[in-house]
Amino acid sequence: MPVKNRFAELHDEITAWRRDLHQHPEILFETHRTSALVAEKLKEFGCDEVVTGVGRTGVVGVIKGRASASGKVIGLRADMDALPIHEATGVEYASKTDGAMHACGHDGHTAMLLGAARYLSETRNFDGTVVVIFQPAEEGGAGGKEMCDDDLMGRWGIQEVYGMHNWPGRPVGSFAIREGAFFAATDQFDIHLTGRGGHAAKPQETVDTTVMASQLVLAMQTIASRNADPVDQVVVSVTAFETSSKAFNVIPHRVHLRGTVRTMSAEMRDLAERRIKELAGGITTAFGGSAEVQYHRGYPVMANHPEQTDFARDVARAVSGNCDEAPLVMGGEDFAFMLEERPGAYILVGNGDTASVHHPEYDFADEAIPAGCSWWAEVVERRMPLAG
Ligand SMILES: [Zn+2]
Ligand SMILES: [Zn+2]
Repeated sequence: MPVKNRFAELHDEITAWRRDLHQHPEILFETHRTSALVAEKLKEFGCDEVVTGVGRTGVVGVIKGRASASGKVIGLRADMDALPIHEATGVEYASKTDGAMHACGHDGHTAMLLGAARYLSETRNFDGTVVVIFQPAEEGGAGGKEMCDDDLMGRWGIQEVYGMHNWPGRPVGSFAIREGAFFAATDQFDIHLTGRGGHAAKPQETVDTTVMASQLVLAMQTIASRNADPVDQVVVSVTAFETSSKAFNVIPHRVHLRGTVRTMSAEMRDLAERRIKELAGGITTAFGGSAEVQYHRGYPVMANHPEQTDFARDVARAVSGNCDEAPLVMGGEDFAFMLEERPGAYILVGNGDTASVHHPEYDFADEAIPAGCSWWAEVVERRMPLAG
């Protein structure tokens, strides 16, 4: 079964919504126009319930099937936020907001879930309830967590939850998924090292904080090479090295290091945090200085649940003929918080040969809309089939 005919009919209209969203990108929780537009459309489609202000600017729509005997409730989630990037696509529907851009395709995700909501409201060929979830602040603001903390799952009795992201480099409209750990936990650290500053020509009177910090940067590379099991994944990147003096003849008193840690399991995450603290403490002590480590836990590992992954894969095969095994992604995804609360699965839909996400020349591929919308609709109709 290829894409649903209704989405071929609606393709132009959904594309127009997508391009309108693209022209009006909004960052983090500031998705005021987008949220209002989503809520207005959901009401227009005849959703049974539309609620705004869930997780600050999140929007929820409820669509009841023709029957409800199954008692099933499925959540479908899209993200709405853009990025602080200056757009360089040159397309006629480019961002009208300087310094903001839909560079991750969340305009496409929102438009596709709206398209699916319209179809599901029109047809209602399912036995159960669909909850469409539009979240703000996926890009670093943990908007998904904010919605969960607002009792998203409990308030609407959601039993399973599904998510989708476009993927540059995959054929347009093709799908890929993997079971278990899929996107990385994304943590950050700040390390403040203190030595004893002084004249650069009299090192014997100082505790050189730059030498100490340099040793630490190198030692942190042994977390991946010496502490981690070679078959597991961990990235430790120091991304900033700031000294308290910019002078050429002063040994700085303090150095500030910061960076990110990406892991694919809770055990590896704990190991990385513990080793960073041990190395910082041990190395600075050995040199006669001290370190203060702040380790900030961000998004957890996003892990797909086995049964829902198999189901999502079957649906993708029905829509587009096949479904590939997706690679591990060391980026983060705050759908992780929803998958911690309920079983579910997250799938990738191909965006074709475009610039990568978060690049100023990236653009969502509108040709992927029928496949993406069809996948959403099929998830509902196959997971909650009408009797007879
Ligand atoms: Zn992104
Ligand atoms: Zn994204």
